[in-house]
Order: sequence, then structure tokens, then C-alpha cells
Amino acid sequence: MKCDICNCEETYVKEHNHKYKIRGKDIKFIMPRRFCNNCNNLVYNSNLDNASSLKAIELYNKNYGISKEDIIKLRNKLGLSQKTFAKKIGCAKRTLISYEKGTSIPNDDCLNKIKSLMIYK
Ligand SMILES: [Zn+2]
Repeated sequence: MKCDICNCEETYVKEHNHKYKIRGKDIKFIMPRRFCNNCNNLVYNSNLDNASSLKAIELYNKNYGISKEDIIKLRNKLGLSQKTFAKKIGCAKRTLISYEKGTSIPNDDCLNKIKSLMIYK
């Protein structure tokens, strides 16, 4: 891993204050990022940076939407396959899979349908 700014190859990892803005909401948390020894600029690190993006999505879903665990729990409770459940909430099966993996955020239509299914069980 190399710094884009100064080309230095010496880097270090430290805890960093992450701030994301997702759909108008501020998401803040602390996770490690990689920095340049020489100029202290951020150095891209796919593992660390992907983990941070997933954390941001997870926190958004927990605080403002629905957690992946709750989606899976609901689908199992209803006894539905991913295909059938996806149809019920109006998205493609692969979209539902991304919700259940926590790699994306349910859109408002799907979220509302999921929440209404939770009420009626
Ligand atoms: Zn540098």
C-alpha cells in the first residue's frame, strides 16, 4: 500500500473518526484507517475501508431503517423463501439478498412493506 500524495510506502493504521452522510442522516463511528507515515494522509486500504462502509450501512439500518437480522427473522417467521418474500416487499431476490447481507439499504417502499408485515406478523 502506497500513499497517493507522496508515494511513501510506509503506512500505519490508527483509529479514525468516520463521518458518513446517508440519506440526510449523519452516521458517526470510530474504526481503523490506514495513513501515510510521511504526510499523514489517508491511504486506501480495501479491507479496512470496506469494513467501514458496511459499518455505516449497518448503523443506518439499525437506527433509521431495519437491521439485516430483523429482516431474516421476519422472513423465517413468515416461512417464506427469499424469492417469495422479495416479491411480497416489491424487490428483486438479489436485492433482498443484499439487504439480508447488510450490503445495502432498503428503499422506502420496501422498508414500509417490511414494517407493515412486522405488524401483522
Ligand atoms: Zn504520504
